[in-house]
Amino acid sequence: MIRFIVSIVLMLFLITNQSAQAKLKVVSSCSIFDDMARNIAGDLVDLESIVPIGGDPHLHSPTPRDARLVQKADMILINGLTFEGWIQELIENSGTKGETVLITKGVKPITSQLYKDSSDPHAWMTANNGLIYIKNIADALINADPRHADQYRANYNTYKTKISEADAFIRTEIAKIPESKRVLITSHDAFSYFGNEYGLQVEPIVGVSTETDVQTADMIRVAKTIRDKKVPALFVESTINPKILEQIAKDNKIKIGGELFADSLAEPEKEAGSYVGMLLHNAKTIVKGLTLVTAESTLDPALEKELKEVNTKGLNFLIYFGLGILIVAVALFLRKKNRHV
Ligand SMILES: [Zn+2]
Repeated sequence: MIRFIVSIVLMLFLITNQSAQAKLKVVSSCSIFDDMARNIAGDLVDLESIVPIGGDPHLHSPTPRDARLVQKADMILINGLTFEGWIQELIENSGTKGETVLITKGVKPITSQLYKDSSDPHAWMTANNGLIYIKNIADALINADPRHADQYRANYNTYKTKISEADAFIRTEIAKIPESKRVLITSHDAFSYFGNEYGLQVEPIVGVSTETDVQTADMIRVAKTIRDKKVPALFVESTINPKILEQIAKDNKIKIGGELFADSLAEPEKEAGSYVGMLLHNAKTIVKGLTLVTAESTLDPALEKELKEVNTKGLNFLIYFGLGILIVAVALFLRKKNRHV
């Protein structure tokens, strides 16, 4: 009897232990990829992000917690393309047996606008690239945990639809901005994929990484764009100190159009607290910034012509009125002078 009870207890222990062990541990380099994986894996996987929400993945310094996470991970999701310059060393030093998954596999990389020899890591900024990311993540999960393949596939399909809908939404939104105003000035070069895909000229203050300092030449370049294109607003980013952009906005007498999210999600309760939410929030904020404040230049052309005419008429009246007064004054002066003589 005792033998029987012991074997039952042992069996139960093995089953619980096995199911605990079976839960895959997936670590992502930042909050955006963590959210993508969460949408596909749901509760089937233990998920953690190395860089916390609001942190800057370009500048992250790995901590002992990061090393423990990576060491225990079955899978590490990374962007590559020079995004997480610190992660290879962290993976090597942690002694992990986990599989490193490059979730940008299949993405067509673009080179940085400001530094022609470096690739731009911010590929997730377009919904179409997001579809590539989530396919890579789904494939990796199915491969590592085939028992839950059906659930991963079903979640992936639902998520795919949501991202495709976000893509359509962004296109409709951007179309609301007058073409000449489609200029996006941001803190760092995180919006080139976005600009290329959705038709905006992108003018970052610094390059694809936030490591570089702002140069005077960058300030002049951006000020020139603001003047030439009559840009009404610029946009700060959640992971970057807004000080320089606020100064540029003040110097050039234009507005801060809002806060964009590129390298981190917002807190979960906010709209940009998920990858899809971040895409929608950015599109809405950009449209609001580049249209509302341009109200005077987006007037109906007929109305604009009328206003111009009224202004011209007003100006003409002032000129004639001034001239009249001058003639009368001169005439009076001459009369007075003649009387004296
Ligand atoms: Zn970035």
